[in-house]
Amino acid sequence: MHIFVSGAGPVGMSAAIALAVRGYEVTVADRESGITEEARAVGVNRNSLSLLSHCGATAGILARAEVVRSARIVAGEDTIARIKVPGQDRRWPTLVALPQSETERVLHEVVARNGVTILWRHETTAIAQSPDGVEVEITQRETGETRTIRADYAFGADGSHSAVRRLLNIDFPGRTLPGTWSVADAHCEFPWPDQACAVLSDVGEIGVIVTIGEGRHRLIANHPDVLEMTRRLMPVHRVLREGTFHVDLRVAEVMGRGRVCLGGDAAHVHSPVGGRGMNLGIADAFAFAQAVEDRDLAPYRAERLAQAQRTVRLTDRAYRALASTGRPAILARNTALRAVGAVSRLRR
Ligand SMILES: Cc1cc2nc3c(=O)[nH]c(=O)nc-3n(C[C@H](O)[C@H](O)[C@H](O)COP(=O)(O)OP(=O)(O)OC[C@H]3O[C@@H](n4cnc5c(N)ncnc54)[C@H](O)[C@@H]3O)c2cc1C
Repeated sequence: MHIFVSGAGPVGMSAAIALAVRGYEVTVADRESGITEEARAVGVNRNSLSLLSHCGATAGILARAEVVRSARIVAGEDTIARIKVPGQDRRWPTLVALPQSETERVLHEVVARNGVTILWRHETTAIAQSPDGVEVEITQRETGETRTIRADYAFGADGSHSAVRRLLNIDFPGRTLPGTWSVADAHCEFPWPDQACAVLSDVGEIGVIVTIGEGRHRLIANHPDVLEMTRRLMPVHRVLREGTFHVDLRVAEVMGRGRVCLGGDAAHVHSPVGGRGMNLGIADAFAFAQAVEDRDLAPYRAERLAQAQRTVRLTDRAYRALASTGRPAILARNTALRAVGAVSRLRR
Protein backbone atom coordinates (compact mmCIF):
# COMPACT_ATOMS: atom_id res chain seq x y z
CA MET A 1 0.00 0.00 0.00
CA HIS A 2 1.17 3.47 -0.86
CA ILE A 3 0.05 6.64 0.93
CA PHE A 4 0.65 10.20 -0.21
CA VAL A 5 1.05 12.96 2.41
CA SER A 6 0.74 16.61 1.40
CA GLY A 7 2.77 18.79 3.77
CA ALA A 8 5.84 18.05 5.90
CA GLY A 9 4.93 20.11 8.97
CA PRO A 10 4.73 18.34 12.34
CA VAL A 11 1.44 16.68 11.36
CA GLY A 12 2.51 15.46 7.91
CA MET A 13 5.79 14.10 9.32
CA SER A 14 3.95 12.39 12.21
CA ALA A 15 1.61 10.74 9.69
CA ALA A 16 4.57 9.65 7.55
CA ILE A 17 6.22 8.08 10.61
CA ALA A 18 3.03 6.40 11.86
CA LEU A 19 2.41 4.92 8.40
CA ALA A 20 6.03 3.91 7.73
CA VAL A 21 6.38 2.02 11.02
CA ARG A 22 3.28 0.03 9.99
CA GLY A 23 5.15 -0.99 6.84
CA TYR A 24 3.40 1.22 4.26
CA GLU A 25 5.19 3.00 1.43
CA VAL A 26 4.87 6.77 1.97
CA THR A 27 5.54 9.76 -0.30
CA VAL A 28 5.58 13.22 1.26
CA ALA A 29 5.63 16.49 -0.72
CA ASP A 30 6.09 19.96 0.75
CA ARG A 31 6.06 23.30 -1.05
CA GLU A 32 8.90 24.76 1.08
CA SER A 33 12.59 23.83 1.00
CA GLY A 34 12.86 22.51 4.55
CA ILE A 35 11.40 22.49 8.04
CA THR A 36 10.03 25.73 9.52
CA GLU A 37 12.20 28.13 11.47
CA GLU A 38 9.15 30.21 12.45
CA ALA A 39 8.28 30.74 16.12
CA ARG A 40 5.11 28.64 16.39
CA ALA A 41 4.10 25.84 18.77
CA VAL A 42 6.04 25.44 21.97
CA GLY A 43 4.04 22.94 24.05
CA VAL A 44 4.19 19.19 23.44
CA ASN A 45 1.68 17.30 25.58
CA ARG A 46 1.64 13.80 27.07
CA ASN A 47 -0.62 12.37 24.39
CA SER A 48 1.81 13.43 21.63
CA LEU A 49 4.80 12.11 23.64
CA SER A 50 3.03 8.79 24.13
CA LEU A 51 2.04 8.45 20.45
CA LEU A 52 5.52 9.39 19.23
CA SER A 53 7.24 7.07 21.72
CA HIS A 54 6.36 4.01 19.62
CA CYS A 55 8.47 5.28 16.75
CA GLY A 56 11.43 6.65 18.68
CA ALA A 57 10.75 10.40 18.46
CA THR A 58 9.89 11.03 22.09
CA ALA A 59 13.39 10.39 23.43
CA GLY A 60 14.72 13.06 21.05
CA ILE A 61 12.04 15.54 22.12
CA LEU A 62 12.59 14.92 25.84
CA ALA A 63 16.36 15.25 25.45
CA ARG A 64 15.90 18.82 24.17
CA ALA A 65 12.72 20.00 25.94
CA GLU A 66 12.08 21.85 29.20
CA VAL A 67 9.61 20.14 31.51
CA VAL A 68 6.97 22.72 32.51
CA ARG A 69 6.65 22.00 36.26
CA SER A 70 4.81 25.14 37.33
CA ALA A 71 3.21 28.23 35.86
CA ARG A 72 2.68 31.63 37.42
CA ILE A 73 -0.34 33.83 36.78
CA VAL A 74 0.30 37.55 37.06
CA ALA A 75 -2.61 40.00 36.99
CA GLY A 76 -1.47 43.60 36.67
CA GLU A 77 1.63 43.64 38.93
CA ASP A 78 0.59 40.87 41.32
CA THR A 79 1.10 37.13 41.23
CA ILE A 80 -2.38 35.77 41.85
CA ALA A 81 -1.54 32.08 41.51
CA ARG A 82 1.23 29.55 41.07
CA ILE A 83 -0.03 26.39 39.51
CA LYS A 84 1.84 23.12 39.70
CA VAL A 85 1.44 21.12 36.49
CA PRO A 86 0.27 17.68 37.69
CA GLY A 87 1.81 14.43 36.50
CA GLN A 88 5.20 15.78 35.48
CA ASP A 89 7.04 12.86 37.09
CA ARG A 90 5.15 10.21 35.15
CA ARG A 91 6.78 8.29 32.30
CA TRP A 92 5.64 10.93 29.79
CA PRO A 93 5.34 14.38 31.36
CA THR A 94 2.03 16.23 31.04
CA LEU A 95 3.63 19.11 29.14
CA VAL A 96 7.10 19.98 27.88
CA ALA A 97 8.27 23.10 26.09
CA LEU A 98 10.21 22.82 22.85
CA PRO A 99 10.14 25.22 19.89
CA GLN A 100 8.26 23.70 16.94
CA SER A 101 11.37 23.98 14.74
CA GLU A 102 13.23 21.65 17.13
CA THR A 103 10.30 19.22 17.37
CA GLU A 104 10.24 19.18 13.57
CA ARG A 105 13.99 18.48 13.46
CA VAL A 106 13.46 15.43 15.69
CA LEU A 107 10.53 14.24 13.52
CA HIS A 108 12.58 14.79 10.36
CA GLU A 109 15.37 12.54 11.70
CA VAL A 110 12.82 9.80 12.45
CA VAL A 111 11.19 10.22 9.01
CA ALA A 112 14.62 9.73 7.38
CA ARG A 113 15.44 6.78 9.64
CA ASN A 114 12.24 5.09 8.41
CA GLY A 115 13.31 5.46 4.79
CA VAL A 116 10.69 8.09 3.82
CA THR A 117 11.86 10.78 1.41
CA ILE A 118 10.30 14.21 1.51
CA LEU A 119 9.99 15.90 -1.88
CA TRP A 120 10.75 19.49 -0.87
CA ARG A 121 9.76 22.39 -3.17
CA HIS A 122 6.90 20.27 -4.58
CA GLU A 123 3.36 21.44 -4.09
CA THR A 124 0.14 19.52 -4.42
CA THR A 125 -1.71 20.97 -7.40
CA ALA A 126 -4.44 18.47 -8.38
CA ILE A 127 -6.22 15.41 -7.00
CA ALA A 128 -8.31 12.84 -8.85
CA GLN A 129 -9.97 9.87 -7.17
CA SER A 130 -11.42 6.55 -8.30
CA PRO A 131 -12.96 3.81 -6.12
CA ASP A 132 -9.53 2.06 -5.93
CA GLY A 133 -7.10 4.89 -5.52
CA VAL A 134 -5.96 8.50 -5.64
CA GLU A 135 -3.89 10.30 -8.26
CA VAL A 136 -2.14 13.38 -6.95
CA GLU A 137 -0.37 15.85 -9.19
CA ILE A 138 2.61 17.59 -7.59
CA THR A 139 4.45 20.50 -9.19
CA GLN A 140 8.10 21.41 -8.72
CA ARG A 141 8.03 25.09 -7.78
CA GLU A 142 11.10 26.29 -9.72
CA THR A 143 10.78 24.27 -12.92
CA GLY A 144 6.99 23.91 -13.01
CA GLU A 145 7.55 20.24 -13.86
CA THR A 146 4.60 18.10 -12.77
CA ARG A 147 4.42 14.45 -11.82
CA THR A 148 1.59 12.17 -10.82
CA ILE A 149 1.75 10.11 -7.65
CA ARG A 150 -0.58 7.08 -7.57
CA ALA A 151 -1.55 6.11 -4.05
CA ASP A 152 -4.13 4.05 -2.20
CA TYR A 153 -4.91 6.88 0.23
CA ALA A 154 -3.83 10.49 0.74
CA PHE A 155 -3.53 12.74 3.80
CA GLY A 156 -3.81 16.54 3.54
CA ALA A 157 -1.57 18.00 6.25
CA ASP A 158 -0.70 21.11 4.28
CA GLY A 159 -1.62 23.73 6.84
CA SER A 160 -4.35 26.31 7.27
CA HIS A 161 -4.32 27.30 3.57
CA SER A 162 -4.48 23.61 2.59
CA ALA A 163 -4.43 22.92 -1.15
CA VAL A 164 -5.92 19.46 -0.49
CA ARG A 165 -8.90 21.02 1.31
CA ARG A 166 -9.42 23.46 -1.57
CA LEU A 167 -9.03 20.74 -4.24
CA LEU A 168 -11.63 18.60 -2.45
CA ASN A 169 -14.00 21.59 -2.32
CA ILE A 170 -14.28 21.48 1.47
CA ASP A 171 -15.40 24.65 3.25
CA PHE A 172 -13.46 26.01 6.23
CA PRO A 173 -16.09 28.02 8.09
CA GLY A 174 -15.35 30.12 11.17
CA ARG A 175 -14.04 33.56 12.00
CA THR A 176 -10.90 35.60 12.48
CA LEU A 177 -10.37 37.05 15.97
CA PRO A 178 -10.03 40.83 15.90
CA GLY A 179 -6.57 42.29 16.52
CA THR A 180 -2.97 41.38 15.87
CA TRP A 181 -1.04 38.92 18.04
CA SER A 182 2.73 38.98 18.53
CA VAL A 183 5.38 36.36 19.18
CA ALA A 184 9.10 36.62 19.98
CA ASP A 185 12.01 34.53 21.20
CA ALA A 186 14.33 36.41 23.56
CA HIS A 187 16.90 36.05 26.30
CA CYS A 188 15.12 37.29 29.42
CA GLU A 189 15.94 37.50 33.13
CA PHE A 190 12.90 35.45 34.12
CA PRO A 191 12.76 36.23 37.87
CA TRP A 192 10.75 33.20 39.05
CA PRO A 193 11.44 29.48 39.58
CA ASP A 194 8.52 28.56 37.25
CA GLN A 195 8.89 27.58 33.60
CA ALA A 196 5.91 29.59 32.36
CA CYS A 197 4.02 32.71 33.21
CA ALA A 198 0.70 34.11 32.00
CA VAL A 199 0.23 37.86 32.28
CA LEU A 200 -3.36 39.12 32.40
CA SER A 201 -4.60 42.69 32.27
CA ASP A 202 -7.84 44.50 32.99
CA VAL A 203 -8.29 45.44 29.33
CA GLY A 204 -8.38 41.97 27.83
CA GLU A 205 -4.67 41.64 27.06
CA ILE A 206 -2.94 38.30 27.65
CA GLY A 207 0.76 37.47 27.41
CA VAL A 208 2.48 34.14 27.92
CA ILE A 209 6.18 33.63 28.61
CA VAL A 210 7.59 30.09 28.39
CA THR A 211 11.16 28.95 29.09
CA ILE A 212 12.53 27.15 26.03
CA GLY A 213 16.17 26.78 27.13
CA GLU A 214 18.84 28.28 29.37
CA GLY A 215 17.78 31.96 29.70
CA ARG A 216 15.78 31.69 26.47
CA HIS A 217 12.04 32.37 26.35
CA ARG A 218 9.13 32.23 23.90
CA LEU A 219 6.82 35.22 24.33
CA ILE A 220 3.29 35.30 22.89
CA ALA A 221 0.59 37.96 23.33
CA ASN A 222 -2.84 38.77 21.95
CA HIS A 223 -1.65 42.31 21.19
CA PRO A 224 1.03 43.59 18.82
CA ASP A 225 3.83 44.26 21.37
CA VAL A 226 4.78 41.28 23.49
CA LEU A 227 8.28 42.70 24.04
CA GLU A 228 7.01 45.90 25.64
CA MET A 229 4.79 43.79 27.95
CA THR A 230 7.72 41.53 28.90
CA ARG A 231 10.07 44.46 29.57
CA ARG A 232 7.60 45.76 32.17
CA LEU A 233 8.15 42.50 34.09
CA MET A 234 11.80 41.60 33.53
CA PRO A 235 14.96 42.69 31.70
CA VAL A 236 15.08 41.46 28.09
CA HIS A 237 18.65 41.20 26.81
CA ARG A 238 18.59 39.84 23.32
CA VAL A 239 15.71 39.39 20.91
CA LEU A 240 16.30 36.38 18.67
CA ARG A 241 13.21 36.77 16.50
CA GLU A 242 9.85 38.49 16.55
CA GLY A 243 6.73 38.59 14.45
CA THR A 244 2.99 39.11 14.39
CA PHE A 245 0.09 36.89 13.37
CA HIS A 246 -3.69 36.68 13.28
CA VAL A 247 -5.78 33.98 14.91
CA ASP A 248 -8.59 32.16 13.13
CA LEU A 249 -11.14 29.80 14.68
CA ARG A 250 -12.16 27.36 11.95
CA VAL A 251 -13.05 23.70 11.49
CA ALA A 252 -13.38 22.01 8.09
CA GLU A 253 -16.96 21.05 7.24
CA VAL A 254 -15.77 17.44 6.73
CA MET A 255 -12.43 15.75 7.42
CA GLY A 256 -12.00 14.52 3.84
CA ARG A 257 -13.68 12.90 0.87
CA GLY A 258 -13.30 9.47 -0.70
CA ARG A 259 -9.80 8.12 -0.06
CA VAL A 260 -8.41 11.43 1.19
CA CYS A 261 -8.44 12.79 4.76
CA LEU A 262 -7.45 16.14 6.23
CA GLY A 263 -5.47 16.55 9.45
CA GLY A 264 -3.80 19.26 11.54
CA ASP A 265 -4.21 22.93 10.61
CA ALA A 266 -5.67 21.88 7.25
CA ALA A 267 -8.71 20.72 9.24
CA HIS A 268 -8.82 22.99 12.30
CA VAL A 269 -7.26 26.21 13.58
CA HIS A 270 -7.79 28.06 16.87
CA SER A 271 -6.03 30.36 19.32
CA PRO A 272 -2.69 29.27 20.78
CA VAL A 273 -4.28 29.45 24.28
CA GLY A 274 -4.03 25.94 25.67
CA GLY A 275 -1.26 24.96 23.21
CA ARG A 276 -3.41 22.39 21.42
CA GLY A 277 -3.03 22.99 17.65
CA MET A 278 0.03 20.88 16.89
CA ASN A 279 -0.87 18.28 19.51
CA LEU A 280 -4.35 17.84 18.08
CA GLY A 281 -2.79 17.45 14.62
CA ILE A 282 -0.30 14.82 15.83
CA ALA A 283 -3.26 12.86 17.25
CA ASP A 284 -5.01 13.21 13.84
CA ALA A 285 -1.90 11.78 12.15
CA PHE A 286 -1.83 8.64 14.28
CA ALA A 287 -5.62 8.18 14.01
CA PHE A 288 -5.31 8.43 10.20
CA ALA A 289 -2.62 5.70 10.17
CA GLN A 290 -4.95 3.48 12.22
CA ALA A 291 -7.85 4.22 9.82
CA VAL A 292 -5.65 3.18 6.87
CA GLU A 293 -4.77 -0.02 8.68
CA ASP A 294 -8.49 -0.66 9.28
CA ARG A 295 -9.25 0.21 5.61
CA ASP A 296 -12.07 2.39 6.96
CA LEU A 297 -11.75 6.18 7.02
CA ALA A 298 -15.29 6.88 8.30
CA PRO A 299 -14.51 6.59 12.06
CA TYR A 300 -11.49 8.88 11.58
CA ARG A 301 -13.70 11.52 9.97
CA ALA A 302 -16.41 11.36 12.61
CA GLU A 303 -14.18 11.17 15.70
CA ARG A 304 -11.54 13.69 14.64
CA LEU A 305 -14.18 16.18 13.50
CA ALA A 306 -15.95 15.94 16.87
CA GLN A 307 -12.60 16.30 18.68
CA ALA A 308 -11.64 19.36 16.60
CA GLN A 309 -15.01 21.03 17.23
CA ARG A 310 -14.67 20.33 20.97
CA THR A 311 -11.14 21.74 21.10
CA VAL A 312 -12.03 24.91 19.20
CA ARG A 313 -15.04 25.44 21.52
CA LEU A 314 -12.97 24.85 24.69
CA THR A 315 -9.98 26.97 23.68
CA ASP A 316 -12.33 29.79 22.64
CA ARG A 317 -14.12 29.63 26.00
CA ALA A 318 -10.78 29.58 27.90
CA TYR A 319 -9.48 32.48 25.81
CA ARG A 320 -12.58 34.59 26.44
CA ALA A 321 -12.39 33.90 30.20
CA LEU A 322 -8.70 34.86 30.38
CA ALA A 323 -9.23 37.99 28.27
CA SER A 324 -12.08 39.18 30.51
CA THR A 325 -12.84 42.87 30.77
CA GLY A 326 -15.21 44.61 33.19
CA ARG A 327 -14.91 44.42 36.99
CA PRO A 328 -17.27 41.50 37.77
CA ALA A 329 -15.76 39.27 35.05
CA ILE A 330 -12.18 40.09 36.11
CA LEU A 331 -13.04 39.41 39.76
CA ALA A 332 -14.58 36.04 38.84
CA ARG A 333 -11.57 35.13 36.66
CA ASN A 334 -9.01 36.07 39.35
CA THR A 335 -10.96 34.27 42.09
CA ALA A 336 -11.12 31.10 39.98
CA LEU A 337 -7.37 31.26 39.21
CA ARG A 338 -6.54 31.89 42.91
CA ALA A 339 -8.60 28.80 43.78
CA VAL A 340 -6.70 26.68 41.24
CA GLY A 341 -3.43 28.05 42.67
CA ALA A 342 -4.54 27.23 46.24
CA VAL A 343 -5.48 23.66 45.26
CA SER A 344 -2.13 23.21 43.57
CA ARG A 345 -0.48 24.12 46.95
CA LEU A 346 2.53 25.97 45.58
CA ARG A 347 3.74 28.98 47.55
CA ARG A 348 4.24 32.22 45.68
C1 LIG B 1 2.47 31.69 17.85
C2 LIG B 1 1.92 30.29 17.79
C3 LIG B 1 2.00 29.49 18.91
C4 LIG B 1 1.51 28.20 18.87
N1 LIG B 1 1.62 27.43 20.01
C5 LIG B 1 1.22 26.14 19.98
C6 LIG B 1 1.47 25.27 21.11
O1 LIG B 1 2.05 25.65 22.13
N2 LIG B 1 1.07 23.97 21.01
C7 LIG B 1 0.44 23.51 19.90
O2 LIG B 1 0.08 22.32 19.89
N3 LIG B 1 0.21 24.29 18.81
C8 LIG B 1 0.59 25.59 18.81
N4 LIG B 1 0.44 26.37 17.69
C9 LIG B 1 -0.19 25.82 16.49
C10 LIG B 1 0.81 25.01 15.65
O3 LIG B 1 1.89 25.81 15.26
C11 LIG B 1 0.09 24.44 14.43
O4 LIG B 1 -1.12 23.84 14.87
C12 LIG B 1 0.96 23.40 13.71
O5 LIG B 1 2.03 24.01 13.04
C13 LIG B 1 0.11 22.64 12.68
O6 LIG B 1 0.94 21.72 12.01
P1 LIG B 1 0.56 21.23 10.54
O7 LIG B 1 1.62 20.25 10.20
O8 LIG B 1 -0.86 20.85 10.51
O9 LIG B 1 0.65 22.53 9.63
P2 LIG B 1 1.91 23.42 9.30
O10 LIG B 1 2.85 23.46 10.42
O11 LIG B 1 1.35 24.71 8.79
O12 LIG B 1 2.60 22.63 8.09
C14 LIG B 1 1.99 22.56 6.82
C15 LIG B 1 3.04 22.21 5.79
O13 LIG B 1 2.39 22.06 4.53
C16 LIG B 1 3.18 22.68 3.52
N5 LIG B 1 2.30 23.05 2.40
C17 LIG B 1 1.44 24.09 2.29
N6 LIG B 1 0.81 24.06 1.11
C18 LIG B 1 1.27 22.96 0.44
C19 LIG B 1 0.97 22.38 -0.83
N7 LIG B 1 0.10 22.92 -1.70
N8 LIG B 1 1.62 21.25 -1.18
C20 LIG B 1 2.54 20.68 -0.34
N9 LIG B 1 2.85 21.20 0.87
C21 LIG B 1 2.21 22.32 1.26
C22 LIG B 1 3.83 23.87 4.23
O14 LIG B 1 5.02 24.27 3.56
C23 LIG B 1 4.09 23.29 5.63
O15 LIG B 1 5.38 22.72 5.72
C24 LIG B 1 0.90 27.68 17.69
C25 LIG B 1 0.82 28.49 16.56
C26 LIG B 1 1.32 29.78 16.59
C27 LIG B 1 1.24 30.65 15.36
